[in-house]
Amino acid sequence: MSDIEEHRKKIEEITLEMIKLLKTRTDIAKQIGDAKASLGMTVTDEEREDALRNQVTKLCKEIDLDQSTASKFLNLLLNESVKVQSESKQTHLSVFLKAKALEEEGKKIIHLEVGEPDLKPPEEVKTALAEVYDKGYGKYGPAKGITELRDELGLETNHKNIDVDNIMVCPGARFAVYLAITTLLNPGDEIIVIEPAWPAYKDCALNAGIKVRTIKTTLETGWEPSIDQINNTINENTKMIILNYPNNPTGKILPKKLLDDIIQTAKEHDLYVLSDEIYSWYTDWAEKIEPYSSMGRESVSWYNYEKSIITKSFSKSHAMTGFRIGYAIAEPSIIEKMSKLQALSLTNVSEPIQYVALQALKADTSEVTEVIESRLEALVKIAKDIGLEFVEPDGAMYLFAKTKYKNFDATKFSEKLLEHGVAIAPGEGFGDYKEFFRITAIDETKLKEGMIILDTVLKESYE
Ligand code: PMP
Repeated sequence: MSDIEEHRKKIEEITLEMIKLLKTRTDIAKQIGDAKASLGMTVTDEEREDALRNQVTKLCKEIDLDQSTASKFLNLLLNESVKVQSESKQTHLSVFLKAKALEEEGKKIIHLEVGEPDLKPPEEVKTALAEVYDKGYGKYGPAKGITELRDELGLETNHKNIDVDNIMVCPGARFAVYLAITTLLNPGDEIIVIEPAWPAYKDCALNAGIKVRTIKTTLETGWEPSIDQINNTINENTKMIILNYPNNPTGKILPKKLLDDIIQTAKEHDLYVLSDEIYSWYTDWAEKIEPYSSMGRESVSWYNYEKSIITKSFSKSHAMTGFRIGYAIAEPSIIEKMSKLQALSLTNVSEPIQYVALQALKADTSEVTEVIESRLEALVKIAKDIGLEFVEPDGAMYLFAKTKYKNFDATKFSEKLLEHGVAIAPGEGFGDYKEFFRITAIDETKLKEGMIILDTVLKESYE
């Protein structure tokens, strides 16, 4: 046998051996996952991971192996463990699906778990839907979106450095987030997510083999991360930090100085900043909070940072969740990368829907903003009256709260509450927040009804 053939055989044997080891590893990870779930422990143990990472670094030196290749491979293995261990988590989506199944059986449910405005889109949308057929919109089109819409969105951002080349239309901000994470990063890279967080950031990263480093913020510190926390989380594999302000689920907006510092840190470490700003229309926070008042609504775009990607959506600004249309704002080179995957996976966003969105931009959306704001105020008042503990939201459409009861388990409570016809989103879906739950500010009559039931079930269960 030639040398080449012998080496090939060896590589094949090693590969088969690795697959067997991978199977054992997955089985054990699953068992650990079940044990952790039953003990109420979190899936990721960063300290343990760091210790393992140090061992890998040491081993690389001993056997003369490239450290960054090894640490990327380690991240892939760690991600597999996180995936198998995360399967049993309750998120707002899993509660929503259970609630829907109960509705199909004829039960009446008050939905305080869903993240959508229960308002009608503006009248302009209705007119545009009637017009679209005759106007001839309905063919294949450019992957980045129709030029008229991208032009308008560029103007809408009200920023001198942003024009049509910086905009890409996507089927919802969710897909824009997915495209950014999947196309700008490589398997084994790391991203930073500040928790509590909308679960899709983590899930998109896991799906693409990217390691997630979480920063835990607390109610006690007003849901603000510290710059030290961020600096201590960055290493040579870190490639992106995700920001979402106004935040889902807390409604938090970062103080300007902290945002300045985060962007500065991102620049120093050459990180992408993915800023999900879909709640920037809720509420008129920019007008209320100094020094934002003079700057308009787009926060991260103020910095002209070439590695920033901002995601926005008609879902929240125009109550058009089911139309599935949003957009990303970034440098043309980033838009180019993201649009390649969009072209590959869906050719283009539905043309008729793009036309409808273009017409929707003519609508006055201040009413949507006002309604959401007044609902959020009503929710805050009721939550105070029944003694929930929370930081008052600056924006968005949610309240992230806990109760005064020790050892309160929001996942169990949400299951019980669902039996009484009210759905809420358990905190564990947003990170390590088992004692918290998220309530959406819906129509005030339904909201009041739901909150009375919540209060009654809470008292019955814990007093
Ligand atoms: N980002 C955040 C923070 C969200 O809460 C949501 C939806 N609730 C989205 C993105 C997705 O929005 P879209 O409907 O545009 O996909």
